[in-house]
Amino acid sequence: MSDFSDYKGTWVFLEVKDGEIVPVSLELLGAGRQLADKRTTQLAGVLVGHNVTPLAKKAFEYGADVVYVYDAPIYRHYRTETYMRAILACVEKHKPEILLYGATSTGKDLASAVATDLPTGLTADTTQLDVEADTGLLLASRPAFGGNIMATILCKKYRPQMATVRAKVMKPLAREPGRAGTVIEESIPLEEADIRTKVLEIVRATTHRVRIDEADIIVAGGKGLGGPAGFQLIHRLAETIGAAVGASRDVVEAGWVEHHHQVGQTGVTVTPKIYFAIGISGAIQHIVGMQNSGLIIAINKDPNAAIFQCCHYGIVGDALAIVPLLIEAFKTA
Ligand code: FAD
Repeated sequence: MSDFSDYKGTWVFLEVKDGEIVPVSLELLGAGRQLADKRTTQLAGVLVGHNVTPLAKKAFEYGADVVYVYDAPIYRHYRTETYMRAILACVEKHKPEILLYGATSTGKDLASAVATDLPTGLTADTTQLDVEADTGLLLASRPAFGGNIMATILCKKYRPQMATVRAKVMKPLAREPGRAGTVIEESIPLEEADIRTKVLEIVRATTHRVRIDEADIIVAGGKGLGGPAGFQLIHRLAETIGAAVGASRDVVEAGWVEHHHQVGQTGVTVTPKIYFAIGISGAIQHIVGMQNSGLIIAINKDPNAAIFQCCHYGIVGDALAIVPLLIEAFKTA
């Protein structure tokens, strides 16, 4: 059995976007705080970027005790190589027992690169975190076998134990203004000439529509809409009430909308205040992505559809007839 007695503490990679720590990293500080308290260890954040040091203050207010900072122009834009080298150096020097990342495109890319290089294990797309009472091992759980079971994955032979965690499944702590911690500034020798990738230009997607992962209201449609023309009703209702558009996987696979609208196990996990599920059967793989919504309203012509088991209000009927009535009612409301 390997000796891991040097490895201590729970860490969170603090992803930065547009000069702010992204919400999932704050959620992970909340989850990490609980893990660290159970194991009576410190909670640390790792910040990598350019001009990011002031963000450590926010991490302390959301639960971190320590923040390791790699702040240099070479980290201005995310690149796998530069960020990976910073994280590898930090892990080697300070030896965390647990290291968590948000399951964002950056988090997934970075975590898998770090896991491969160390090497250690990585549980991807985790939705529950805990520690085993007698061993203190991380218990990272995620849906498996098409969402029919929850698999709890342990990493016994390597350190750190790593997981990427879905956005919006953990809760951030209430902000504690003025809560202080220790900033540890780190650096590694890294020259632009050593790095094989260059960021030439960043082109932002332009959309006037509400983003699904940030929306308070989501109108989601399924195969019951019958086709792309029927699905336009979902766009119209969403536009009328200022909601984001969601979709089932079958709709995405049919090409009626792009993948970033997909809600569920292989899509986005959402927790809006109101979720309309229209012409969606309620397969478990869809439910796991929206079941924590504040209010779920389902429309389905089949009274036995599974979606009616998890909604707060259900309308049995033809969506193609009901949705136009809703649009008119909301317009005149
Ligand atoms: P259907 O199952 O075809 O249901 C259509 C519903 O519309 C039915 O309930 C029907 O009664 C109703 N209906 C029909 N006509 C009308 C009408 N005129 N008015 C009102 N209601 C009507 N699915 C996801 O959504 N997200 C995922 O992330 C996801 N990941 C998956 C991962 C794996 C590994 C697997 C195996 C599957 C995954 N799926 C996912 C697919 C999932 O199992 C279902 O196949 C899918 O959710 C079904 O989509 P649907 O409800 O739109 O279509």
